[in-house]
Amino acid sequence: MRLIFFGPPGSGKGTQAQLLSQRLGLAHISTGDILREAVRQDTPEGRLAKPYMSAGRLVPDSVVNEIVCSLFRKKDRPAHFVMDGYPRTIDQAEQFDEVLHEQGLALDGVLSLKVDDEELIRRLSGRGREDDSVDTVRKRLQIFHSLYQGLLDYYRKNGLLVEVPGSGEKEAVHQRLLQALDGKVKSS
Ligand code: AMP
Repeated sequence: MRLIFFGPPGSGKGTQAQLLSQRLGLAHISTGDILREAVRQDTPEGRLAKPYMSAGRLVPDSVVNEIVCSLFRKKDRPAHFVMDGYPRTIDQAEQFDEVLHEQGLALDGVLSLKVDDEELIRRLSGRGREDDSVDTVRKRLQIFHSLYQGLLDYYRKNGLLVEVPGSGEKEAVHQRLLQALDGKVKSS
């Protein structure tokens, strides 16, 4: 199965992507993890990405696309995967479509975890991190929504988008995602 996973900060996206990868035997591909590792190893990509990451900004599309494309062009490329944190822009989505097409890999679905902003604000500001004051959280969510609106529309148009409520216990959300996928795979 080949999936993209979207979800706002605080929605449990990372945890749910990991659960899906473990239980469905999919490679969990997180560009955030790949980039953090590149920075740690001080690779050329890591050196390019570092200032953007430290400033909390998106790393340029060219850098991230290159990382993802070379991963999918390797001989032992992942054939079944869940993408976590990529694509984040339309340019990335187009590039990803291109490389998947070139590799003969079709996406099965794009999962989007939906959680009310008020709930996210409660969860995030309750974590007690210094930057997680309610205003900062609200700002982060606004940025998230403005960025992802276009991406969600992109995949909605392709008929790949499945929106799943993300409230409740971890296991309940996981089961809901599996059910949504079941419907998706059967109907496609
Ligand atoms: P994440 O762990 O997904 O929150 O990513 C951590 C940081 O890595 C982000 O704040 C960005 O600076 C960078 N990053 C991760 N994925 C991408 C992406 N697809 N496009 C641009 N920057 C990214």
